[in-house]
Amino acid sequence: MTTRPVVYVTRRIPETGLAPVREACQVRLWEEELPPPKSVLLQEVADCDGLLCLLTDPIDEEVMAAGTRLRVISQMAVGVDNIDLRAATARGIPVGHTPGVLTEATADFTFALLMAAARRIPEGVDYVRAGKWRTWEPMGLLGVDVWGATLGIVGLGRIGTAVARRARGFAMHILYYDPTRRPDLEAELGVEYAELDDLLARSDFVSLHCPLTPETHHLIGEAALRRMKPTAILINAARGPVVDPDALVRALSEGWIRAAALDVTEPEPIPPDHPLVSLPNCIVVPHIASATVSTRERMAAMAAENLLAGLRGERLPYCANPEVYARPL
Ligand code: NAP
Repeated sequence: MTTRPVVYVTRRIPETGLAPVREACQVRLWEEELPPPKSVLLQEVADCDGLLCLLTDPIDEEVMAAGTRLRVISQMAVGVDNIDLRAATARGIPVGHTPGVLTEATADFTFALLMAAARRIPEGVDYVRAGKWRTWEPMGLLGVDVWGATLGIVGLGRIGTAVARRARGFAMHILYYDPTRRPDLEAELGVEYAELDDLLARSDFVSLHCPLTPETHHLIGEAALRRMKPTAILINAARGPVVDPDALVRALSEGWIRAAALDVTEPEPIPPDHPLVSLPNCIVVPHIASATVSTRERMAAMAAENLLAGLRGERLPYCANPEVYARPL
């Protein structure tokens, strides 16, 4: 009888992912609400063949060194900035992720944030709850138009493109900045390429959809925020550290820009007494852009698919470090 591979799952995920993994593997599951501490992670990976992790787990060189048997790392997220991909590749470990299945949910939510900030929905909710609604006010809670405004998309990948498709329905003029120029999408969606500085200066809304990399870390800092219009709104549903939080606090307090809406923050979670949480022109929500029932179910199923393929020695269907397959044996 062959022994089943040992797998560590760092949090309870939807059954669409857990069930197939349980069927094929010996599963050790971290059942707590908060992520496993690093010391637990290091201990658990020591005798594991596979790891199914989340973006809250720092999977660095130390974890990989401890996981001497690790044959595959499968993350239930598309972004893999918490994983040292270079270290994984050097060790011959393929890393799975979940592109595509969360694109539409994340784009929907990006638009929800954009609309909420433009039309001041959370402030309106607070207003009613505080008993301040006494009459229809001709000058009360005035926002800005979304329809016909200029949207600047930073990173025209899967999610950026899905946001652009939605923006067309609002007759927005769409600018994009991306290291790769996309003439196909320019023709199909009528989006206009702009250098980042130009995009920042011309956009009424700037929406971030690039991955977090050394190049994009604090991409939106003081210089970028000062380039934006004083009436502009920043939306971040990418990764927190793409925006410098200290610069953003100053931008929002001193009126360099009008407002911001953040699904992601630096640090994450953001402390409740952080100025970004209390500023009336800043919306902060707890990294929920992909949080729909069906999207999370599909993400979990995809993470299981990657994990099981890796354990069988097959190529991962959705691999974040495909160069691992090109490395010399
Ligand atoms: P994707 O298809 O790979 O798109 C990312 C795009 O950003 C690519 O076109 C990429 O260009 C571009 N890019 C890379 N470096 C850039 C830079 N310096 N400046 C501007 N653009 C740059 O990925 P996706 O599926 O759309 O996801 C994008 C990111 O969203 C993920 O990495 C993840 O961090 C985040 N995300 C967040 C949530 C959430 O819950 N808030 C959910 C899903 C995803 P190249 O291809 O030329 O490199």
